[in-house]
Amino acid sequence: MRIGVLGGTFDPVHLGHLSMAEEARIQLGLERVLFLPAGRPWLKEEQPLTAVQHRVNMVRLAVDNNPHFEVCLEEIDRPGPTYTVDTLEQLTKGLDSTGSLYFILGLDAMEQFHRWKEPGRVVELCHLVVVARPLHQRFEWPAFFTQYPRAAGRVTVLSTPLNPISGTEIRRRAADGISLRYQVPEAVAEYIEEHELFKSADADGVWATGSGQDNGSRLLQVALERGALKYGEFTLVSGKKSSYYFDGRLLSLDPEGAHLIARAMLPILREAGAEAVGGLTLGADPMVAGIALASHLGGGPIPGFIVRKEAKAHGTRQGIEGPLEPGCSVAIIDDVCTSGGSLFQAIAAAEAAGCTVVKVLAILDRREGGSEEIRRLGYDFVALLQATPEGKIEVCRTP
Ligand code: ATP
Repeated sequence: MRIGVLGGTFDPVHLGHLSMAEEARIQLGLERVLFLPAGRPWLKEEQPLTAVQHRVNMVRLAVDNNPHFEVCLEEIDRPGPTYTVDTLEQLTKGLDSTGSLYFILGLDAMEQFHRWKEPGRVVELCHLVVVARPLHQRFEWPAFFTQYPRAAGRVTVLSTPLNPISGTEIRRRAADGISLRYQVPEAVAEYIEEHELFKSADADGVWATGSGQDNGSRLLQVALERGALKYGEFTLVSGKKSSYYFDGRLLSLDPEGAHLIARAMLPILREAGAEAVGGLTLGADPMVAGIALASHLGGGPIPGFIVRKEAKAHGTRQGIEGPLEPGCSVAIIDDVCTSGGSLFQAIAAAEAAGCTVVKVLAILDRREGGSEEIRRLGYDFVALLQATPEGKIEVCRTP
């Protein structure tokens, strides 16, 4: 009896997993395929994982209508980090004399094989069924077989079309509110929606720190870490005293800062129906570019545009650079809103180009009159961070 085992974090389980399991079952004549959710895989220790109960529930929903598939909780019930070799030892004990195990894995996982616990023992305990992925198609097989001679005759590379679906991409899509249709089974998509999974940065796995912070808190922390936000006694250009100093460029030009800003602003822009995003050079420039790039990566493009401080004295005399379609709905952004001067200038330029301003956004609202004035004039203004009356910077919880 041939039994397939597909181990994974399943955060969440997706159609890539199901199709590779079905393909392995057909090509190798497997009687059953066990879906084995990992408790805490030691190779993904840095990645924040969704609660195990949710991951297991989703796998249950996914395998429900295939009589050859089942969920195996072997790794969940074991405390501490999980190692495939221990799982295979356990599963082997339950086999009769004719039974053999076929461990199904992607080529990306195979690249890590030498780091697994007791890889030599793993190839004794099971056959390996390997599936290539779009970014993982090559493997040094001669070196592998030299290192693990017992694997000879016990490895099958499945011949199946490449499937680009990944858990990482699904979490990113869910966080950005993009449809998961045709990526996960319908029941799993409904489960994700119902339980609001992958909405926050900690479940998302994108934040390199794995700090468990939400997007806004992380943005504030990065601002402090990078020196974009400093507390102390400062004299502003206007001559006014301030208990803090904020340099938006140190945040918007920082790789993680740029990412966090784009991730925070993009859903707000989409909800407002903005078809383009722009602002006054120079503060808005990196933010505009970051948002345009992020929009391309998921959910439909939002092109950027730049408003010059002064219209060009020659040539087309245009005050706006970039692919702005006249008459479209736009969002106007800036790093800081103090009196709102730069935002007003960009709003005026966009309106002069025949656009409708549907949202006005800043990273930091200093609460010094600008945002109130923008709102008073009927624009929908939001900020990611704001100054409190005591001169501290806090995250706007409902931007
Ligand atoms: P993440 O993006 O979170 O790392 P993942 O999509 O790789 O998630 P896992 O649950 O860790 O999902 O994957 C379980 C196993 O399935 C791994 O061996 C992985 O290589 C493989 N796998 C996942 N998606 C695919 C795919 N689209 N094609 C081939 N193999 C895949």
